[in-house]
Order: sequence, then structure tokens, then C-alpha cells
Amino acid sequence: MTEAEVERLFLLAAYSFEEENDRRNEIHVSDLTNPCVRAVWYEKKRPLPPSPENALRMLEGKLLHKVQVIPGSTMEMAVEFEGVKGRVDEYKDGVILEKKYVDFVPSTLAEVQRYYMHYIEQVGFYAFMLVSTGHEFKQALLHFAKRGEQNERGRYPFKTFDVTSLIDLDKVEAEFYNRKTVIAAALKRDEPPEVPANFSPNSYPCSYCKYVAICYSGVR
Ligand code: SF4
Repeated sequence: MTEAEVERLFLLAAYSFEEENDRRNEIHVSDLTNPCVRAVWYEKKRPLPPSPENALRMLEGKLLHKVQVIPGSTMEMAVEFEGVKGRVDEYKDGVILEKKYVDFVPSTLAEVQRYYMHYIEQVGFYAFMLVSTGHEFKQALLHFAKRGEQNERGRYPFKTFDVTSLIDLDKVEAEFYNRKTVIAAALKRDEPPEVPANFSPNSYPCSYCKYVAICYSGVR
């Protein structure tokens, strides 16, 4: 076997490892937490595959999901409400645990709120959907694990935060319907929503987005 053959097979295996079902005709919790409706539109209507680097990141994330943290929990529990689908990393007796590989492990709850608000929103939506489908909700936990070595002084290689107190189910419910409505309306259109006026190619979320060349080059 040649080196090139192995490299090609490796990348193919990384892309196809536990491949997701086709999500183009579905709305998922990850769509509700996406900060850009235009990006959601592209993901459903004209999706680009992830770069090899992102495929490897996704592989890491999928492997982390295989690690059971809470003994006896239901792993990757499917939940669906009002046509929105989600998959909770771990659930047991009202406790939700979401596990994230990140480049930056927060040290405080304030840092979680500042840098990872979308993950707080995600567990909030799960909590709302679980309660709405007859499940118990008592606690929401976010677990962060550092990608690669932690060499920043004073930071941990992994850390868990209880974000239960940040979840107001009434507000989450309003936001759930609001975002679902906006996304559903955008997806009815044949052209993507415009790039929001306050977005720039050099700042979040565009600086992390695979559609940045499409959005800012004028190419359709
Ligand atoms: S590059 Fe920016 S505007 Fe374009 S889809 Fe991505 S996040 Fe949205």
C-alpha cells in the first residue's frame, strides 16, 4: 500500500465515521443555536463538506460522545418536539450532561457565559424539549475537555459547570418558537438570507464559518 492510499483511506474513514443521517429536510437544536440563519440555509440547501481539519475535529467530538461519564445514563438520547430534533449526550433521572472538546477550557461560569453561550442555549433547549415530552429535568451540566495539551497556566485540561441556574424554561420556550419560526421561514426561500449588516469576515461567527468565501466574495 502506498502512503497516499493510506492517507486517502484515513480521511475517508474520518468523514464517514458514524455519519449523520441526511439533515437537510430537518431542523435540529444545533440549527436553533447557530448564530447565523444564512449559515443554516446553506447547510440545508447548498451544503459544503467540512475541511479535512474540521472532519478530524468532528471525529474527536464523536469519540468523546462514546465515553460514558454518568453511570447508567442514556447515551446520545434522541429527543424531538414540534418538529425539532436533538440528541442529548447523556441523560439520567433528570440530569442532562453535554460534553464538548474545546480549544479553550473556561475557568469560571462567567467565562462559560462569555464564550460558550450557545452551549448553554443548547442544554436549555434540551431541557425544554425533554420537559415538553414528559421527561424530568433537574440539572444541566456542561463538561469541557481541552483539545491537545493544556499548557496555559492556571487552566485545567477539563472542567464541568452546573448551568442549571442559567436556564429559565419560560424564556427558553419563547426563544425555541422564535428561532424555529425564523429558520423555517428562511428555509422556504430559494435564496439565502442576506449577510447580517453587523457581520464581518474577520469576526465571529464568520471567521469560523466554512461559507465565508461564498458570503464575502460575491460568488453565488
Ligand atoms: S460566513 Fe458569516 S454570514 Fe456567511 S454563512 Fe457564515 S456566519 Fe453566516
